[in-house]
Amino acid sequence: MPLLPQRFNRLKSVLNKRQSNLTVLLENVEKPHNLSAILRTCDAVGVLEAHTICKEGKTPTFNSTAQGSQKWVKLNEYPEINNAITALKKKGFRLYGTSLDINATDYRECDFTGPTAFVLGAEKWGLSEEGKNLIDQSIYIPMRGMVQSLNVSVAAAILLFEALRQKELTGGNPKNGEGIVKEIYDERIFEWAYPEVAEWCKQKGRKYPSINSTGEILEELPRDIKMRY
Ligand code: SAM
Repeated sequence: MPLLPQRFNRLKSVLNKRQSNLTVLLENVEKPHNLSAILRTCDAVGVLEAHTICKEGKTPTFNSTAQGSQKWVKLNEYPEINNAITALKKKGFRLYGTSLDINATDYRECDFTGPTAFVLGAEKWGLSEEGKNLIDQSIYIPMRGMVQSLNVSVAAAILLFEALRQKELTGGNPKNGEGIVKEIYDERIFEWAYPEVAEWCKQKGRKYPSINSTGEILEELPRDIKMRY
């Protein structure tokens, strides 16, 4: 059975609103429910890719809180925070580290309309000293209660939706795919439409086959490749 046009159109309409200039970098956020909730928010606001520092040998795991968002938001893993921050700075991101430090700025006073990456820390310890030294600006969400900090996924949601709001006001939220370069757009739509074929191509080290405007693959593929529609 071919990929249904309605399904392909739905995938395209979501990808059209994705943006590559808004992201999160998670420093050792380990609990599956937090990671899942953050990726679900990333999906909701249209983040194309998120980033995480993973302790050696620890692959991020998700639970039902994610509602499958891990399929729609690519998570890039780095061994150390300096690798991640260097990579994001090279791409032009301004890195906003979240911390409750005395020098941090109230997030409502910040301009998130440019390429913005929020750096969030581990559940227990927050951001590392190395992370704090590498970021561009320290920000905080004001607290009025007895408890000193928010759950990390709640903090991520507040900041991401604020960035989305600011970008909306300045016309910065993509609607027709302009938030992603074409090469990445084509790659991602193929991966979303044909995850098994994409995996097979990666294993074989070959390019993804071309697809037409209705999402049909324009190439004969070996019969044994299982396609999920
Ligand atoms: N004791 C840790 C500390 O001092 O940072 C608390 C960590 S908090 C539970 C986990 C993460 O959530 C923090 O590293 C930060 O990324 C985010 N977070 C929680 N509350 C926040 C707030 N009020 N402002 C900004 N970020 C916050």
